[in-house]
Amino acid sequence: MYPFTYTKAADTREALDAGRRGGRYIAGGTTLVDLMRETVEHPDTLVDISALPLREVTVTERGGLRIGALVTMSEAAAHPKVRSLYPVISQALELSASAQLRNMATIGGNIMQRTRCTYFRDVSADCNKRDAGSGCAAREGFNRTHAILGTSDDCVATHPSDVAVAFAALEASVHLLGPDGERRVAFADFLLRPGSTPQREQALRQGELITTVEIPALPRPLKSGYLKVRDRQSYEFALTSAAVALHVRGGVIQEARVAAGGVGTVPWKLPAVELHLVGERPSESLWAAAAQQAAVGAHPLAHNGFKAELLKRTVERQLSTVGGTK
Ligand code: SF4
Repeated sequence: MYPFTYTKAADTREALDAGRRGGRYIAGGTTLVDLMRETVEHPDTLVDISALPLREVTVTERGGLRIGALVTMSEAAAHPKVRSLYPVISQALELSASAQLRNMATIGGNIMQRTRCTYFRDVSADCNKRDAGSGCAAREGFNRTHAILGTSDDCVATHPSDVAVAFAALEASVHLLGPDGERRVAFADFLLRPGSTPQREQALRQGELITTVEIPALPRPLKSGYLKVRDRQSYEFALTSAAVALHVRGGVIQEARVAAGGVGTVPWKLPAVELHLVGERPSESLWAAAAQQAAVGAHPLAHNGFKAELLKRTVERQLSTVGGTK
């Protein structure tokens, strides 16, 4: 560790003042403190925002949900409205991390978490995300867990969050508060693909705070769920995952929301799969045909070619689990 300043913001104004001066926001600290210990991150000032009033889950007028940035993963997963309206969110959270981490980590921190690429966390390795312009050790190194979608020459790391995959599928938005006021960013635009600037991961301006994540109201009835495929059944990141939400009326799929995790540099929305489903009747052959679209555009690396086929099978299975055949 190294010397740094810690300050606890009593209210939003204090937090924004400190953020504008370059302070790094911290709440649960489950990612940032680890990275500071490993000297991957070295902020001069930490601004503890855990006292801010961002701990509520509310139903919007239209029947969507707003989840406060400081709601813990455990609280969000167990919340009756989250469970009843969007089980895909509860399931994604419950399949993440460990119970102890879920009790500490917040929704805002979860979507801000940084990649688990081992080279990123090894300060002796070249890593453009940690040290811009230094290179990417994963490209020629061991890249079994890395991304096959949304990669660039400069970075092939996956985004590690599960709940972010559910947010991407449901087309959530992120509410931000900064020195210039409030704004709202579509979730699809909030997490950034690496391109030539992999060190820049979110569409945040200096000093901005996440206040809530909003899930839009979707037609009812809505069935949804999350499937995570990993090397071991507990406390492990996804090799592939699928978040699926379907609105079926009159025996026909009216709306489909599908996204994948473990395969993209950001949570990977699957519009070609969705398009294949809408207007069709649920059937096992439909799920299989739609899932064939899941890996379109994939660029596997030396050790992760298996992910393209695994992704298709993950999506097919989760479509079948959520949609059935009636
Ligand atoms: Fe760094 Fe990205 Fe390459 Fe991993 S994949 S070593 S995070 S640049």
